[in-house]
Amino acid sequence: MARICVDMDEVMADTVAAHIHRYNHDFNENLRAADLDGKWLWQVVPSDRIDRLSAYLDEPDFFADLPLMPEAQRVMERLSAEHELFIASAAMEVPRSFNAKYRWLQQHFPFVPQSQFVFCGTKAILHADYLVDDNPRQLRAFTGKGLLFSSPHNVNVDAGAHGWTRLADWLAVEAFFFS
Ligand SMILES: [Mg+2]
Repeated sequence: MARICVDMDEVMADTVAAHIHRYNHDFNENLRAADLDGKWLWQVVPSDRIDRLSAYLDEPDFFADLPLMPEAQRVMERLSAEHELFIASAAMEVPRSFNAKYRWLQQHFPFVPQSQFVFCGTKAILHADYLVDDNPRQLRAFTGKGLLFSSPHNVNVDAGAHGWTRLADWLAVEAFFFS
């Protein structure tokens, strides 16, 4: 049995899709996730729109309505049956998101006990065998084996050069732990 930590945003939840959806709606744009091509969302929008982009994260329903990543629930449930599974979110980056994130996790992942939710700042504090995360900064801080979950902003990151394994989606997560 391994101890596995899984990030929430852009791993369990398609946060960037929700963010782009609001941006396109408000600015009458047609940005797609693929257009990010190695950049974070705030790196591709005009600088005078960044404040608005940040403000979406403080809206009470933003983290409550996030779409699920395909297969995340099924594979998480399978992992939880055989491993010690924690959800580790750097929620301190958006402190007003705590309540909505908590409710979202309880709603969609009821099989993970709330004692295994970790809302943290840096993931350097985690003591686990694996961390599944899209953010290279958090994987660099983590002391166990990093599993880089593919996201539009990290497509150009060389996971192997950092000692990480890239996992394209939840089917790849499943294959990593069960084959
Ligand atoms: Mg993330």
